[in-house]
Order: sequence, then structure tokens, then C-alpha cells
Amino acid sequence: MRGLMMDSQLTVDKLLDRAAALYGRREIVSRRPDRSLHRYTVADFVDRSWRLAAALQRLGVRPGERVGTLAWNHYQHLEAYFAVPSIGAVLHTLNLRLHADDLAYIINHGGDRVLLVDATLLPLLEQVRERIDVERVVVMRQRAPGRHPATAEVAASADSGDGADSGDGASAGEGASGDENAGGESEVRGGDTDDLDYEELLASVTADDVCRPRLDEYAAAAMCFTSGTTGLPKGVVYSHRSTVLHSLALGLAELFAIRERSVFLPVVPMFHVNAWGAPYACVLVGAKQVFPGKHLDAASLCELFAGERVTMTAGVPTIWLDVLDHLDRNPGRYDLSAMETMLVGGAAAPPAMIRAFEQRHGLQVIHAWGMTETSPLGTVSRLSPETDELSDEDKLAVRAKQGRMAPLVEVRARNEEGIVPWDGSTMGELEVRGPWIANAYYDTEQGSENFTDDGWFRTGDIVTIDPLGYIRIEDRAKDLIKSGGEWISSIALENALMGHPKIAEAAVIAMPHERWIERPLAVVVPVAGESVTLAEVRAWLEPHFARWWLPDALEIVDAIPRTSTGKFKKTVLRERFRDRRLD
Ligand code: AMP
Repeated sequence: MRGLMMDSQLTVDKLLDRAAALYGRREIVSRRPDRSLHRYTVADFVDRSWRLAAALQRLGVRPGERVGTLAWNHYQHLEAYFAVPSIGAVLHTLNLRLHADDLAYIINHGGDRVLLVDATLLPLLEQVRERIDVERVVVMRQRAPGRHPATAEVAASADSGDGADSGDGASAGEGASGDENAGGESEVRGGDTDDLDYEELLASVTADDVCRPRLDEYAAAAMCFTSGTTGLPKGVVYSHRSTVLHSLALGLAELFAIRERSVFLPVVPMFHVNAWGAPYACVLVGAKQVFPGKHLDAASLCELFAGERVTMTAGVPTIWLDVLDHLDRNPGRYDLSAMETMLVGGAAAPPAMIRAFEQRHGLQVIHAWGMTETSPLGTVSRLSPETDELSDEDKLAVRAKQGRMAPLVEVRARNEEGIVPWDGSTMGELEVRGPWIANAYYDTEQGSENFTDDGWFRTGDIVTIDPLGYIRIEDRAKDLIKSGGEWISSIALENALMGHPKIAEAAVIAMPHERWIERPLAVVVPVAGESVTLAEVRAWLEPHFARWWLPDALEIVDAIPRTSTGKFKKTVLRERFRDRRLD
């Protein structure tokens, strides 16, 4: 017997309809490039989203076609998040930290027809424009009223608040705000006369001009590329259904607990796994959203936390380590009494950081785990009733684990002997499945080994699972380094290094780093009779990789240990250089 319930498709446009009906007066705040704040209401947001939708249709964008975004977190990007899927097209968020070669590859491989680009990121676009096959570029400017158009977005470049990270030149990632890729400020230098202006485009239509297609919940809504160990990024394609279910899940009390009274500030970029899905979830439940734009330094963030009475925020550990340091140095400067939850994920949260926020600033850090392939929410570590009897120290140890699986997400861990018991000590590779987990990569055979024959996704994370179901990441099977929340491919660096005339063999491994959590260490066997320096290694790699990919340190060894099949035994190297720190 079949259930007698309506066939109501789970599609993103319904979130817009709900927001229009119920949350019209809710505010959305964004920091502009010149640091001023843009404010409007959800009613404005919904109207403008439909106008963008209509304008894209006028440009000829049809269902299934891709619209790329190259943008920081702000209201126009949010409009694209909803407008593009609502006409059946596919939102393709482009990671602005990528090297130009990778960026060009994902724009072409994704098949982007139109690109929506921040004016401040035009210099980055210029690096790839000759190589990409897009029909139209639409430039998004966030101008404060009364500012001269040509200078409005240039102003921020001299601003101290934005430069927190640009000095060290070694690292980037979600944690970095000043970065060499996206560092250009000037819209004057970039741009093409054929480029369209986002605001002019919106002004040329009304919301009623849109022709709303009938959407299928299994159709693609958005896509996002993730870095692969083999170098080429791989596309993950989210459906309307997965996006809506994931948004519902983010509202659950044991997960992110986003609700109508929440004021959510995503530090996690909208170009990396949809800012953890928060923009969709916030619109669904009517939470106020606060977007930091390109200003991700601790002072700018703390100002927004206090000024907008932010209750929830999400970011990688590097961001929170900066914020912690800033709060420690400025006691009493910010009123963060509204803050309920600081979500941390993307890399392991140091227990000392969780404790420090709580003890020194009364702030609660909640640890979560996820991946681009998992939309991303996989697990959250909140204390279950069974942990009530534990000591504070033991509770902290539980909270520092990656957590328990979200409802509808199933997990198992597997090693050579099979599925591992939930005993908290046997290690295995974490596998997951569920309605918002990828079942294939977009248009490639690469990475197909990540999907098992019996329908699970292999995460490449080596974990233990304790009897209560708390997962802890112990190691990583995939050959990647995560610096400040963004991936560095060790294999790509190794291949390039082994092309150096003085290098016989090279392995690149992650070295623990206080701020970036991991940084690359190059372990090198020089050609007989030769020697090689860190400066030479970096100079060799520099033309081919983003600057934050370059190894921070070098170790010369006689030989690189190998497995019986001849592969580098990185576990041995990682163990050997476990305590290696920056010189
Ligand atoms: P991405 O697809 O870039 O979001 O990266 C996903 C990967 O980041 C996971 O497979 C883990 O290796 C790592 N990761 C994400 N969250 C955590 C966490 N809380 N602790 C440790 N590693 C994490």
C-alpha cells in the first residue's frame, strides 16, 4: 500500500516563497569592500533574487546550464544562490584561492555560461579570461551610496583591517583574508567593455518578468569543485532535494540549531561548500544573516559580532585562533554576549582552543566535520546525555572529537579486516551515505574509487568510532595537506619537485602548524653529489603553484621509505617529522 501524501518537490525556490511570506522584514547585512555596511530586508532580497532570475533568463540561461560566481560572502552572492537554482540553472561557486590554471579548468569543465564576478576580483578573472569559454561576465559592485563608482571599491586596499595575513605570504585558505590570488582591489585594472553591470541588469527587469519553470527535486541546483590528490579538481553536484534536506537538518537542535531568532555570520566562504549550507538554512528558517565580505581579519569579524548581535558563526580553526588571540589582546573591547555558538570545522579543532574560548571569553565552540562531497554536514560533536557523568576534562575530549552522525547520514569505518567495531580504538577509513552525500563526481572517471560498490562514499579520513558513536579523525588516507581550511595537493608538489635537476626524490607531508593547522614540509633526496636549499625549492615551484602552496620547510634525507609496492610510506615520514616546526 502506498502512502497517501502529496508529491511536493523539495526545491530551492520554495525557500524564497516562504521567506517572502513570513520573513520579509528580517535584515541581511553585508560588509562592502570599502568596509561600510549594506543593509536590506529579506523582502528586498527576494525581489532582487527574482529580478536576477529574470535577467539571467533574458541573457539566455536555460535550465541545466551553469552560472559561475567568483565572489566573497555578501548579499549579491546570496541572490545568486537562490536566483540561479530557481530558474533550473546550476550555481557554480568558484574558489578564488585556486591557482589560475585550476580556476580556468573548473570554469571550462563546469561549462559555465555566465559568470558573476566581484569587481574586486576582476584582476583574478583577467588571469584566466583568455582561456575560458564563457559568454557573459556580469560584474557585481557593492557601492556605498554617494561613493564615486571608480574609487568605491579601491578604498579598502589601504585599510589596515584587511591585511592581517598578506604579510607572511606563506599561507592562505579559508582563514586568509589577504591573499595573492585575490589581492587586487582595483576594478579599474580589470573588466572588459562587454561586461555587464549587475545592478544595471537588475534594474532592467522586474520580479514578475521571471518565467518560473517546474523544478524537479532531483535536478542539479549547485556545484562545487574539490581538490583532488591527482591535481585536477573534481565537481560535486548538489540537487534541489539534497539542498533542502540539508537545510532542514541544519536547523536541528543537535546539529547547528539555526532558528528564526538566530543571527548567523558565515566566515566560511560561499565559494567553499556553500558556506556549509548556512545561507539556504537561514533563508528557510528566517534567521538574520550577516556577511563579512572580504574582510575576514579578527578585528573586522569581532566588530560585526558585537555590532550586529551575532548569535552563531562558522569557520575553520585558523579563523578562530586569530579571533581568540584578538580577544585575548583586547579584553572587554567587544560585547559578545549574544553569541551562542561558534561552529568550527574543515580541520581539527584544537582542544586547547575550545577550552580557551570557554574559560577566557565564555564562548561555546562546537566542532563539526564535513566535506564538499557531503554538502557538507556529516557530524557534529555536542554532548549527549550519556556524557553527563564525565569530568570536565573528559567532556572536552568528547567535544574535540568530530562528533556523531547527523540524522539521515549513516557512517561506518572499514579497514583490511572489514567493518571496524565502535570501540573507540580500532581505526578504519570513514565511509558515509545519505541523501546529501555525493554518489559520483561530475563528468569524470577520476575519483570513482571513492564510491564503493555497495553505495557508500569513502572519505579518505581514518577514524575511530567510540561506543556512543562519536567519531574521531586519527589520520588521513588522502594525500593532501589542509592549510587554513584549503587543500594543497602533496602529489602535485612532489611531481613538480621531482622535475628539479638537483632532486632525485621528493615527498611532501603535512607539518603541524599552530595557526594554519597544517603546512607543507618537503622531504627531499638530492641527486648524488648535489645539495638543495629551501629557497631553491620554492623558486622552482613558484611559477606553477599558488604562493600559499609552497613548502615552508625542507628536510634532506638519504632515502624515502617505501611500501612493498614501491609507494612512498608517508606514515613513516609523518612519524619521523612529527615534531618538526618552522625554523
Ligand atoms: P573539504 O571538502 O575541502 O571541505 O574537506 C573535507 C575534509 O576536511 C575532510 O575529509 C577532512 O579530511 C577535513 N576535515 C573537515 N572537517 C574536519 C574536522 N572537524 N576535523 C578534522 N578534519 C576535518
